[in-house]
Amino acid sequence: MSSSSLQLCLSSLKACKTISSLKQIHAYALKTSLDSDPFIAGQLLLLSTATVADAIDYARRIFVHIPGPDAFMYNTLIRGLSDSESPQQSFLTYTQMRRCSVTPDSFSFAFILKAAANFKSLNTGIQLHCQAINHGFNTHLFVQTTLVSMYAECRQIDSAQKAFEETPQPNVVAWNAIVTACFRCDDVMCAESLFNRMPWRNLTSWNLMLAGYMKAGEMESARRTFCEMPQTDPVSWSTMIVGFAHNGCFDDAFGFFREMQRLGTRPNEVSLTGVLSACAQAGAFDFGKILHGYIEKAGFCGIVSVSNALLDTYAKCGNIGMARLVFNWMMEKKTIVSWTSMIAGLAMYGHGEEAIDLFQKMEESGTRPDGVTFISILYACSHAGLVEQGSLHFHKMEEIYGIKPSVEHYGCMVDIYGRAGLLDKAYEFVKRMPIEPNAVIWRTLLGACSIHGNVRLAEHVKKKLSSLDPDNSGDHVLLSNIYAVAGKWKDVASVRRLMTDRKIKKTPGWSMIEVDKEFYRFVVGDGGNSATKEALEKLGEIILRLKVEGYIPEIGSVLHDIEEEEKGDAVSRHSEKLAVAFGMARLCEGSVIRIVKNLRVCVDCHLVMKLISKVYRREIVVRDRSRFHSFKDGSCSCQDYW
Ligand code: ZN
Ligand code: ZN
Repeated sequence: MSSSSLQLCLSSLKACKTISSLKQIHAYALKTSLDSDPFIAGQLLLLSTATVADAIDYARRIFVHIPGPDAFMYNTLIRGLSDSESPQQSFLTYTQMRRCSVTPDSFSFAFILKAAANFKSLNTGIQLHCQAINHGFNTHLFVQTTLVSMYAECRQIDSAQKAFEETPQPNVVAWNAIVTACFRCDDVMCAESLFNRMPWRNLTSWNLMLAGYMKAGEMESARRTFCEMPQTDPVSWSTMIVGFAHNGCFDDAFGFFREMQRLGTRPNEVSLTGVLSACAQAGAFDFGKILHGYIEKAGFCGIVSVSNALLDTYAKCGNIGMARLVFNWMMEKKTIVSWTSMIAGLAMYGHGEEAIDLFQKMEESGTRPDGVTFISILYACSHAGLVEQGSLHFHKMEEIYGIKPSVEHYGCMVDIYGRAGLLDKAYEFVKRMPIEPNAVIWRTLLGACSIHGNVRLAEHVKKKLSSLDPDNSGDHVLLSNIYAVAGKWKDVASVRRLMTDRKIKKTPGWSMIEVDKEFYRFVVGDGGNSATKEALEKLGEIILRLKVEGYIPEIGSVLHDIEEEEKGDAVSRHSEKLAVAFGMARLCEGSVIRIVKNLRVCVDCHLVMKLISKVYRREIVVRDRSRFHSFKDGSCSCQDYW
């Protein structure tokens, strides 16, 4: 070994960032016998566990060749393993360490306890706690702090608190750990009282409170805390934006994003994906486009998570062409998320064949589909009526990829058979499921009975649903619709009576439209506000013109209306009709009218939109609860199959 080779090795170690350069250095160390130098070996181990991504297996191989590793080396490997995908591996290393009579130190306990936390193994955690007491490390600050986190991950808030109270002089990290622990165990009150007791706080403590409130769905507490903060950073802003998006308050997510920009805080990756997710949920196409411009200008294009979010936004905002553009742009940076979003986008449009093609391309590219990809592809088959392809992919999932179908996958298959009218097959499939069918499965079957008017099976299915989820309004509405279509008016009346007696409330339907960066939400029967008045006036004018062209309202038909808003006169004032009329009144001629609805579109609204697209030559895109309808020249992209 020469000093020059040692120098070379040390300088390459400093610069090493990737697994290939790590392997090069290791090979060089082997050739020059530097690998037996404890310092070099330790550095190689440190690199492969902490600096270089996905190198943990390599770290284990390096470790095996180290003669008589010391506590530092054991600790390094334990730490790396505890943060890996299989934290339980570190328990073996820890056992080996003790077997080789290497005495664990406080670091060993902190790292191995972290593994117990990540693996959520309470038994191992308690054993380690006892050993830490025996070795006298239980009072060490960072061992205590990891104990708090370990108990929190195992949902033992009392033990977590006890560990915290036993900490002699908790620092801010320990305080943050106990506050996080409370939120982890869904104890918001406890988190609040501890936060108020903290002798000092740093920005991280404040941000933890924001994140905790948002996770608990307490948006107002988060907002109040945000206003009280002595200072904020990009993390605070992104926590608020992501939190609002996650809780479905897209308006607030947009508001915070705009405010952040106004105050000159540069958005980061997290806030951008958060605000894009809000756009996707709200169907906010125009705002999405503005964000797209910003992303290009500010140089966020190369960041995979941002591109994925943008792709998903375009797909969910009803612009599959732009989604495709972003998708193609990503080239070899595409991840499983990109492929899945694109397939899901095509599925929502009913482009079943294209979705299957894309799935094939993904397989050819060497990307392994996961459970979510299979949900998307099955969904695509169901919306396009591709029964054989559906069952083919369902079997492929387990046989080729070893993915066990979950209840969602079974639900997709029931939907595929049910929509195609193969009700017996669907029912047989449910009976033969190896897992207990849940309410969603039965509901899917009930929906299929409704589409195909099978009263006998519907009654049977409804009985199953009544024991699983007795107060679901949608199920009652579906059954009463099935009776209505079959002309069983007495049964209709008894279902309705039951709903009134049990005070079962229907989910109110709403539709939303974006006009000049503002979002307008319409609800049936809400005639009070000025936007609704404006929409009603325009709607009256439109309906009159459509009637001249031969439109006859389909008030009796409620077949597809899962949770109808109201029948009779109110059908003419359904929220999606109001939103379209508002769009017609406010948007400039020729622009596409985009609407998002929380329930399914009913037959009459579907007909009206088709007619508007023809008579007024206006393109309308509606995203309902399960898919897109793109109306153009008098027909819809769903080909009346939804
Ligand atoms: Zn309707
Ligand atoms: Zn349609």
